[in-house]
Formats: sequence, structure tokens, C-alpha cells
Amino acid sequence: MKNIKIIETALRDAHQSLFATRMRTRDMLPIAEEMDKVGFFSMEVWGGATFDTCIRYLNEDPWERLVELKEHIKKTPLQMLLRGQNLVGYKHYPDDIVRKFVEKSYENGVDVFRIFDALNDIRNMQYAIKVAKEQGAHVQGTISYTISPVHTIEKYVEFAKKLEELECDSVTIKDMAGLISPHDTYELVKALKDDTDLLVNLHCHCTSGMTPMSYYAACQAGVDILDTAISPLSWGASQPPTESIVAALKETPYDTGLDLELLTHIKKYFEEIRRKYSSILDPISEQIDTDVLIYQIPGGMLSNLVSQLKEQNALDRYEDVLNEMPKVRKEMGYPPLVTPTSQIVGIQAVMNVLGGERYKMVSNEVKDYFKGFYGKPPAPVDEEIAKKIIGDEKPIESRPADILGPQYERYKKEGEEMGIINKEEDILTFAIYPAVAPKFLKGEAEEESLEPPKDTSTPEAPASVPTEFTVDVDGDVFDVKVIPTGYLEIEKMEGVKTPEGPVEGGIISTMQGMILKIKVNKGDNVNEGDIVAVIEAMKMENDIHAAQSGTVEEIFTAEGDTVNAGDTLMVIK
Ligand code: MN
Repeated sequence: MKNIKIIETALRDAHQSLFATRMRTRDMLPIAEEMDKVGFFSMEVWGGATFDTCIRYLNEDPWERLVELKEHIKKTPLQMLLRGQNLVGYKHYPDDIVRKFVEKSYENGVDVFRIFDALNDIRNMQYAIKVAKEQGAHVQGTISYTISPVHTIEKYVEFAKKLEELECDSVTIKDMAGLISPHDTYELVKALKDDTDLLVNLHCHCTSGMTPMSYYAACQAGVDILDTAISPLSWGASQPPTESIVAALKETPYDTGLDLELLTHIKKYFEEIRRKYSSILDPISEQIDTDVLIYQIPGGMLSNLVSQLKEQNALDRYEDVLNEMPKVRKEMGYPPLVTPTSQIVGIQAVMNVLGGERYKMVSNEVKDYFKGFYGKPPAPVDEEIAKKIIGDEKPIESRPADILGPQYERYKKEGEEMGIINKEEDILTFAIYPAVAPKFLKGEAEEESLEPPKDTSTPEAPASVPTEFTVDVDGDVFDVKVIPTGYLEIEKMEGVKTPEGPVEGGIISTMQGMILKIKVNKGDNVNEGDIVAVIEAMKMENDIHAAQSGTVEEIFTAEGDTVNAGDTLMVIK
């Protein structure tokens, strides 16, 4: 008899997958004490996108959410999802920030840390694991699961052994796209049980529809822990339903021992919650999507792609982009598709299709990826593509965070000078989200309404722009602010004039986006290939180069302007 343990994801992954992470703390607290009675292995309540969403859309302090949940959930360990060296953001933070963040998370109530890296590069996980272990937390080392010619059972087991050497307490198979088949589940779980002493946990999304079968196969192979979500927040892009898994395993050797009646009582509460949030329930994430079996693209990423293609007025190229995606992924060394690699690969596929020529347009994130700043790709990258993107530059060999100096004291000082620091945790909020946090910490953020947001995608990429600013174009002043979706809202638009049709020596924008930087002034001399401007399109930064050497004769745009594909940005003669 082996009792399978259950991790309940309702308060983190389930609402991240179905409600774009918008559930409020006040909707969690009334049911928290009931959930505490169930006897879950843990409740996942924090981390992932919850941190970003709290300060960006909900005007909630994520640290306070954690403390309040801890006050109501006294027995059940609280769990968070930590993106390794990326913490709860989208880029690597230096070790001093990682240490403080993990220490404060533990201090405020996190008992179980699930730690992953998008590339399964152990160097991006080791420091966070070490600090979490020092605190006395339960650490789940995580395998970001994907399918490719280089992702074999042997490789996964090898990786799990490294996690065991770092003293992780359990290993999680994180199947974010719901790709794992029952057969492969059996083989992988069995191998992990045979070759390590770790507790094995399976975390799947239902996207492909295979998941409940895979869960049963996992039981047969000796899995210890399964992730589920209370039924009103289950299926589709979320986890399998808690009650169904509990019932299915009853009186088998895998019986969870959990009380179905108590769960049904909790379920009633979440039925109300589902109704309450129905306006933001994305129909795509509600469904089973078997396309994932062909394209290996997680559901959330598909809906992001659709909205980005719409933004570029190119929805008719959707099929082309889907077909381009596996090619890009192969050329980039088969990264698993999870934040942030899902966005990086997805947008590159879009740019390859829309740009007319593959890798003609490359985001700075893709350049950094080829330079090794995200870590070591699972397989070697395509050499010709790498040469096209970074020339003869050699990718770094070191741990990516080794090139980052300490930053905590700098943010502390800067934040204090701005008057936005009331507690130590605020320094971390500011350090991780320097663009979004000040407005929130000043108390100027507003809670969005439960009307359908314009963009129901979960935040995937950094907002690398200030939230509000004023631009001056030829004497016309425009108030520009970034609305909560991350897109631009311009209050007075007339007056931005760019010439129509081709201009000799004109630098043309090949995409719709926002001018982040103009790097030249009128009268400057530039060489062919110099970066003259940076445009943010589809949440990625892209350099714009001079097509020829010469003098900048005219500049038609300013920083903060939105431009369309085909607009002339400046003239070089
Ligand atoms: Mn997940």
C-alpha cells in the first residue's frame, strides 16, 4: 500500500493557467482554512506569475498575500514556484538578490520551493537550491520536460542525480505543455525511482488530453506525489481535477486517503469563483488542444501568438508561424518551451515569417541566448545561424550569473532615495520589477476591473519601458503611458507624421512597435550597420541598423512613438 500525496494548485498554477493569474487574495482567504483540513502534501500558492500580476494588475502586495495565507493555512506546507536564478522575473538576477529573495520567501511562509530552469541548466538553479536548503525548506529540484532527439530518459536521470547531489528532497517532472504520454511517464518515473533516492512528483497540464492516463501510469511506476487542481479550476491548460484523481485511486494501492466530501465542499466555493472570473476565462485555455502533440507549443503560448499576430495585422500567417516554430527550436538547440524561452522562440518564429528572410530581424533576447547568457542550450545551436546572429563572438562558458555584480545595495539606496521602501521586501520587489514596482510601491497603482482585459495573456516578458512619459515631437507634446497590458496608449496621436512611400536613404521599420531609443541625432555621421534605433515589438527589443554609411539628415520619430511596419523612421544620406 502506497499512499499517493497530492499537491493542490488552485491558488497558483490553476488560476495562472485559466484566469491569467488574476485571482485576488480576498477570494482565497475565505476557503483557506477548509483547504488546510484536507491533508495535501502542500498547497502551491505563490511564485510563477503571481508576483508580477499582483503588482502590475491587482494592486496587491505579493508579500502580504503570502503572510495572510500563512495565517489561515497553519498545517499544510505552502509551496512556491521559483524560476531558478530568474526568481519570479524574466532574467537572471545576481546572487545577492537571489539569496535575499529566497530568505525572505521562507521567512514569510514558503515551506516548499519548486525550483526550475528553462534550459535545465543546473548552474542557474544551484544557488537558489543552496540558499533554500540552508533555510531548512523542502526543495523540489525540477526537470523542465520536453520532447526532442536530445531529451532522453538517460539525460533526465543524469540531471536528477545532479539535483540529488545538491541535496534536493524531491524531483518534479514539470510537463508544462501536457506532452508526456502514459508510456513515457511510466518509463521516466520508473527510471527516476530506480536510480535516485528522491521522492518523485509529476506536474502536468491537461492541454493534450492525455494527462489523467499519464497520472495512472505514474502511479504504477511508483510516483510519490501528483499535482491536481480542485475541479472548477481544472482541465484545459490547468491540472487534472483533484476530486477525480482522489476518487480514481480510491481502494487501489495508490489511495490518497483524502476525504471526497470535504473536497466537494471546497469545490462548491470554487464554482462561485469560476463564475466570478468567467469574463477573463480564456476559451483557448479551457479546451483540450491536440495541436500541442504536433507543434509542442503550450496552450498559453498559442494564445499569446494569436494576439501578437493580430497586433502585427498578420493573423493569416498563423499556420506559417506554427510550422516555423519547430525549426527555430531545433536551431536554438531544443530549449524546453517555458518562461522565458517560450516567448523568445515564439517571437523569433514570428519575425522569421514576417521579416521575409529568416533571422533578418533578431531580438536582443535571441542574441543574448546565442551568447550563452541564458545558459547552455540542451543541444548545440545551429552554427550558421549563430554566425549570422552574433558573428564570431564566442558564447560565454561560465555560469551566466557569474558575470553579474551585486545589486541589492544599489536598489536599496535608490529605492530609499525615491521614498518607496517601507520594508526590506520592497527592495526585492523593486529590484525584480524596477519599471513596474515604483508606481505600485508609491500607492499609485489601481486594481484592474473584472471586465475582460484587452490582453489576457499571462505576463511573459519584461516591461522594459517606463510606465508613463511625455514625448515631444516637433513641438507637439504627447502624453504616453503604458496601459496594464504592456501595450501603449497614446493620448494625442495626431502630429506624428512620417513620410508616405519610400524615401531615398530612408530607414524603414519592418514591424509595428514602439521606439524605445533613438541612438543618433540629426547631423550625426553613421557607418553602415550601426545601431540607429531600438524598437520594442511583441515585447522584445530589436536593434535597427543603418542600411548605409552617411549623415543623418532627418529623424521622423521620437522615443516612445508607436510606428507601423513600412514607416520611415529617419533618412541617412
Ligand atoms: Mn505548471
